[in-house]
Amino acid sequence: MKVFKFGGASVCSADAIRNLSNIIRVQESDFLIIVVSAMGKSTNALEHILDLKYTGNPYQVFLDELEKYHLGICSQLFPAKHHPVYQSIDSLMISLKLSLENEETNFNRLYDRVVSHGELFSTTIVNAYLNSVDLKCQLLSAQEMIVTDSNFREGKVRWDLTKKAINEKLGNRTRGYYLTQGFIASDEYRNWTTLGREGSDYTAAILASCLEADSVTIWKDVPGVLTADPDQWPHTSKYQSLSYGEAAEMTYYGASVIHPKTIRPLAVKKIPLLVRSFLDYHTEGTEIMDIQHEQLEPAIIFKPGQCLISFQVRDFSFINESKLSLIFHLFEEFNIRVNMMQSSAISFSVSVDNPDSKMKNLINSLSGEFDIFYNDQLELVTVKNYHPDLLPQITANREVLLEQKTRKNYQVLLGKPVESNI
Ligand code: ASP
Ligand code: MG
Repeated sequence: MKVFKFGGASVCSADAIRNLSNIIRVQESDFLIIVVSAMGKSTNALEHILDLKYTGNPYQVFLDELEKYHLGICSQLFPAKHHPVYQSIDSLMISLKLSLENEETNFNRLYDRVVSHGELFSTTIVNAYLNSVDLKCQLLSAQEMIVTDSNFREGKVRWDLTKKAINEKLGNRTRGYYLTQGFIASDEYRNWTTLGREGSDYTAAILASCLEADSVTIWKDVPGVLTADPDQWPHTSKYQSLSYGEAAEMTYYGASVIHPKTIRPLAVKKIPLLVRSFLDYHTEGTEIMDIQHEQLEPAIIFKPGQCLISFQVRDFSFINESKLSLIFHLFEEFNIRVNMMQSSAISFSVSVDNPDSKMKNLINSLSGEFDIFYNDQLELVTVKNYHPDLLPQITANREVLLEQKTRKNYQVLLGKPVESNI
């Protein structure tokens, strides 16, 4: 059995959905689980609607737009006005409106309730279409299979319950096509939860792990895992294969091609993960699997939106273990992830994602003890398996704020391009 995952871009229009059906047809797999994300940018649209509602602003126009978008796709796929899909879209719109009108005060809980509708719309439409073109498939609710804790917006999978629920639905099947939603789940009390943004890849991995699938394929708008983002770097090539470890590290440093949580469950069961292009689906992509590399092309990973914070001690004291422990304790308490760090005699510097309210709390808590400086709008560039010739090209014409080399990795925190004198 194989698991296929299709992201928002692969279901963003009627043509994209037709293309998805062609992919399924040519694969000729007789047992397939298909995981689909919300269409196009509809998760962002739902987030926007929710923000407007939460801040007491009118949101109806955006809700109408979202409905129009889905109905527009339906009108191209299902010309018959009485096709049952229209009734289903109507019911989902009502459910979405009711969720928005709910007096729920816990924002994260409301978020999951509202935003989950994106995947419900997309799978309703894709399911209706696949069945209409004789790719008989059964729609299964991810909210009845993926069980998380009640940590809304960032649900942690309850593996025991999830495995049981998935096996109840699919365990005794040996063939057929089954479609389900990525990203969305429920807690054990049936409250809707989500796995965190871009979490549909993770859903595919959870299903594959629980059912011991033969492989997972993530269909993307890129030909596979590339050595760098082609929008950011002129010379890129595709990896034919990558070890689980290399791929996991790449996602850790910010490569967005796969959701970071996806690799682990697959690596544990040695299930291969294929990254392939939905635009060019006859071509092989990258296979992530249980291999050792002798040598690997360097990977360049860009992570924008960084903030460099330096904690400087006062009164001629030094940065010692107890000061570091104080700082780290608060990082953990405020749940702030450190992307790079460096320590010197009198100061300790870290690079973290865009400063937000968590960061302000941290700075307030530590300003009694340290002088704190920060620079924002920086970019962290990581080069895995670097060779030295590459490094000057990375830093060319850029201000270097922090730099670090280990045997295999190079990391640099860069400011804006430096104005040239020519
Ligand atoms: N629709 C969700 C998001 O955009 C999940 C996903 O696409 O993986 O974050
Ligand atoms: Mg997406």
